[in-house]
Amino acid sequence: MSNTPAPLSTWARNISPSPTLAVDGKAKALQAAGEDVCGFAAGEPDFDTPDHIKEACIVALRAGKTKYAPTPGIEPLRQAIVERYGAEYGLKATTAQVIVSPGGKFSCYLGVLATCSPGDEVIIPAPYWVSYPEMVKLAGATPIFVLADDKTGFRLTPAMVEAAITPRTRLLILNSPSNPTGAVYSRVELEAIVAVALKHNLYILSDEMYEHLVYDAAKPTCVATLSKEAEVRTITVAGFSKTYAMTGWRIGTTLAPLPIAKAISELQSQMTSNVATFAQYGALAALKEKEKTAAAVKTMLTAFDRRRKLLHAALNRIPGISCLLAEGAFYLFPNVSSFGLKDLEFCNRLLDQEKVAAVPGSAFGAEGYLRLSYATSDEIIQKGVTRLARFCATLGK
Ligand SMILES: *Cc1c(COP(=O)(O)O)cnc(C)c1O
Repeated sequence: MSNTPAPLSTWARNISPSPTLAVDGKAKALQAAGEDVCGFAAGEPDFDTPDHIKEACIVALRAGKTKYAPTPGIEPLRQAIVERYGAEYGLKATTAQVIVSPGGKFSCYLGVLATCSPGDEVIIPAPYWVSYPEMVKLAGATPIFVLADDKTGFRLTPAMVEAAITPRTRLLILNSPSNPTGAVYSRVELEAIVAVALKHNLYILSDEMYEHLVYDAAKPTCVATLSKEAEVRTITVAGFSKTYAMTGWRIGTTLAPLPIAKAISELQSQMTSNVATFAQYGALAALKEKEKTAAAVKTMLTAFDRRRKLLHAALNRIPGISCLLAEGAFYLFPNVSSFGLKDLEFCNRLLDQEKVAAVPGSAFGAEGYLRLSYATSDEIIQKGVTRLARFCATLGK
């Protein structure tokens, strides 16, 4: 008998922990130790869940909605999801195509698992949301990154996608509005990219988590509505976390062609079963009590928009920093490459010296940038940017 236990699995040894949660954790630990930290690292709204949503959940709990529910979700919620896709995008679907999962993150993972086998390649536009590469690797597939930097507004061109496709490519991941850049593709741009995917018979995972958080003239596009051909190949992921400030509830949604929806539901039935039953009643209220929800979303969106402009203007006043004005989500992705530091070192020193928490662009596959979340108060934005400017000045610009 050996004294040393056998090694852990290849899955356990190859996984990279979420770098955004790591920076946020370090900032929160500093804060807990009494430091005055300006946090730009969090990937969640700073608002509380609207009251009517909480109330509906409490009522459900009191009414004994505490048992297992059908794996893909309670029927009224799936029906409400179908109705909202119809109302918002004119998309016709049935409840059998809808799966409610424990968070949009898990919805994405199940979408990858349902379509990708070991040896397959998955095209991931960079800068990317940190979880996509790990999900693809956990499915035994290979992530293929295609980087679009600030020169193209962090948006891929069809030619860039075409160049990355091989006979092994199975899936294209799209995320508009984007985390981490806030970039929003126009419908016309998506049509051209999706045409390339269709030509090569790829599946598309369209992560539309930030569809309701768009500013100025930007409009979200539901990729599945681009054409009939797109509809039968697109897995649409969305959720309640970002739009309704419900990150802790863990409710994501998938709308997929029937065979994929069935596979996803079966995978989920063996992995997690249903989302907490009473939580689904809260989500149902978010979709059903439309006026209250719309008012709450409007309040949040107005605040995000004000902070977006505030942060963007302040960043561009700092010598050495250039930042595009993103049209969606609640992130800006300024370019700090002119300082000649690795972005990880930039962030570490910024946190040590000035107690400002930002996530390095390299965590998202794009060295030389920072991701700053403006889902925080105007005061913290103002204070944080003043400190950032002071820090940059010490770097000699
Ligand atoms: C936050 C986020 C998700 C998933 O959020 P959940 O909290 O798991 O619902 C999915 N995709 C992107 C791009 C995100 O930023």
